[in-house]
Amino acid sequence: MPNKEIPSKIEHKRDDTTQPLVLPGIHRYQFFTNLKDRGWTMNLDRVALFGIVGALLASVIKPLLRWNPATIYCYECRACYATQDRCPVGITLQAELVVAGRVTDYDRFIRNGGLKCIRCGNCQSYCVQYLPLPQMFAVMQEETRVAIRNGIVPHHTLRKGLDGGLIGKEFIDDVVKAV
Ligand code: SF4
Ligand code: SF4
Repeated sequence: MPNKEIPSKIEHKRDDTTQPLVLPGIHRYQFFTNLKDRGWTMNLDRVALFGIVGALLASVIKPLLRWNPATIYCYECRACYATQDRCPVGITLQAELVVAGRVTDYDRFIRNGGLKCIRCGNCQSYCVQYLPLPQMFAVMQEETRVAIRNGIVPHHTLRKGLDGGLIGKEFIDDVVKAV
């Protein structure tokens, strides 16, 4: 009978860098902190990956924290621009207001007439998803009012808003006090 030696234990010889790749630059079972044997370009892949994931998360988390979650669902298809002269205050780029609300961009919101919107709801019927545009604009209006009172919105943005007739009567006192 052949006397074969059977190993009592099979050793697993793979180290971190010989594990199969599960994502670009990331090996199976490899910890993020274990970078010493890795090429710097591989780590750049990983940084890029975390950057992309971080940006995606930020675009979702920010509206949630600001109580304006419906802005996440906007496709930016711009079908709402068909509102045209049915907007009683002459706002033509409603999607710009939605995106400004999503990323809390006060300058973009004011520049596109967000502070003169009277929340009539006419544009909502043109939204392909029937998003609650008046409520979304109202949330951002209040955010902007607080930011104006706290001195966060730059003076030149407010001055341009005043000069361009972009400030509604509900907000005019706050804007005049701030500039
Ligand atoms: S809700 Fe605002 S943006 Fe929409 S039509 Fe009315 S005033 Fe214009
Ligand atoms: S129609 Fe609706 S989904 Fe499309 S850009 Fe306007 S708000 Fe966004």
